[in-house]
Amino acid sequence: MTGSGTILVGLAASPGIAIGRCWTVERRKVRTPKRRIGAEEVEAEVARLRTALEVSDLQLADVRGKVAGPDAVGGAEHTAIIDMHRMMLKDEMLVLEAQRLIREERLNAEWAVKRALRKIKGAFHEHADEYFKERRADIDFVGERVIKNLLGQAPDVDEQPPEGAIVVAHDLSPADTALLLHERKVAAFVTDAGAKTSHTAIVARALEVPAVVGTGRVTACAKRGDWIVVDGGRGLVVINPSASELEEYEAARARRLEDEKQLLQTRDLPARTLDDVTVRLAGNIEFAEEVPSLLAHGGEAVGLYRTEFLYMGRSDLPDEEEHYQNYRRILEALGPRPVTIRTFDLGGDKLPAGMRVNADNPALGLRAIRYCLRQPEMFRVQLRALLRASVHGNLKIMFPMISGVAELRAARRALEEAREELRREGVPMKDVPVGIMIELPSAAMIADRLVRECDFFSIGTNDLIQYTIGIDRQNKDVAYLYKPLHLAVLRMLKIVCDAARAAGVPVSMCGEMAGEPVNALVLLGLGVTELSMNGPSIPVVKRVLRAAKASDGRVLLERILSMTFADDIEREVREEMTRRFPGLLEQEAAVGAVSG
Ligand code: PEP
Ligand code: MG
Repeated sequence: MTGSGTILVGLAASPGIAIGRCWTVERRKVRTPKRRIGAEEVEAEVARLRTALEVSDLQLADVRGKVAGPDAVGGAEHTAIIDMHRMMLKDEMLVLEAQRLIREERLNAEWAVKRALRKIKGAFHEHADEYFKERRADIDFVGERVIKNLLGQAPDVDEQPPEGAIVVAHDLSPADTALLLHERKVAAFVTDAGAKTSHTAIVARALEVPAVVGTGRVTACAKRGDWIVVDGGRGLVVINPSASELEEYEAARARRLEDEKQLLQTRDLPARTLDDVTVRLAGNIEFAEEVPSLLAHGGEAVGLYRTEFLYMGRSDLPDEEEHYQNYRRILEALGPRPVTIRTFDLGGDKLPAGMRVNADNPALGLRAIRYCLRQPEMFRVQLRALLRASVHGNLKIMFPMISGVAELRAARRALEEAREELRREGVPMKDVPVGIMIELPSAAMIADRLVRECDFFSIGTNDLIQYTIGIDRQNKDVAYLYKPLHLAVLRMLKIVCDAARAAGVPVSMCGEMAGEPVNALVLLGLGVTELSMNGPSIPVVKRVLRAAKASDGRVLLERILSMTFADDIEREVREEMTRRFPGLLEQEAAVGAVSG
């Protein structure tokens, strides 16, 4: 090989370097035939629809059977999403609406399915965040399967890739990903479409298979058999690399393997500083499936379980039993380790299908705890399930977006009512610590009052920074202002941590700031007692903490609090960290798989 390969830049979906041969998966979009039918065809068309739905369900059951076996790799990673797709097939909004369209508007079954799905998708705003856009993709995958079945086409990948292949596709459905991964043959994934929150990305992270998504054109640039390098940590793909590029990546892969081995040596050791301060390192999860990876990276707890996923990609609401089973599974997987489950944080345009509320500015609207308090019945279902699940582990309940004491009391009252109900029903429960997210400036400023009425704080810096500096966290145009080390943010953090310390209440941090090793010394200085982050970030943060002194953190904090400009503060922190921990900041935060 001479010259250099074609380099594509996509989204860093799952870290790790893989080198292997390209194996393309054809996933051509299905064309939906549209036809008006005669009155005499209506019943036959409804029957075709029913059959296609049944066949789709059988296919998914089959995929599930393949990936859920005891020897299957990552079975649990896939079954939840496949179950969700099976539920969507039975969704009234799909089935009844498609039947209605066939009967009343005389559409053929394919067209009726397409229209019904469009209506369901309409419930997700066009400009909803990435995560919710991806749930729209789930609806597409389900719809495509039904339409393909109506047309007699095979909806699933039917060929297994050779061992060590780099799978290249326009997009992959959850069922495709499950089928491709369950024999652990695939070295990496690269797709044209997708986002960091697509199912492929989430599963790839959970199984530690490197992945780059959203490249836009990998299927146009690579063909079966081409050599491909995937650098999942940097979102880079090199097609047909030159000999020197290949050598470079081989060396990077070897270094990474070595780093990983070293970092994981401390997996079972506490994150204790040289001056004996211990910080609990916990994980943020969105799916139960992420738990094994979290534990493999030395996670000591779940610091934040975002329960929103349970509500998404569907038009009905999860019932109490579904909530309960989900929480129970996570609690049992963590054993005696704490699991902080956050009640659902949706609202504005982030709502389950059919439950839209109008708001021009959803980030400031009826979201999170505000929405729950407005929908007491829905809230009650979640609270009852949480309390029922409490007997299966070490549960903590957390309320998001608390803005003041009255709101905290209202949320606690709702919890007490649920507890009282269950008590009357004779349902066993355990005492559960109740905490709040500190992610609004109002909450930070009155942390001394809030702390008297809850058992722990968890600082959500993603939102706290958004609301403090007044920048939309989704808006690229103002991203340059998003500065965790802005003096205003630092002062806010100090107020919160001081209030917690004075009251003897633990204070966690679960925003992205917590998982960036460069911040570790500052956070030690603040006196944070738990840091919650993505599992793969844990080993590097632990390494810094074990080599640090909290007293040095306090000195650094005092120094930067006397400065003015965020850029100066950032530079000061970076220089101090580079001096104290040479080489460390260059180390990739994520310890992903190395394969190929
Ligand atoms: C936060 O706001 O920092 C946080 C952890 O919550 P989310 O990212 O889910 O809004
Ligand atoms: Mg938040």
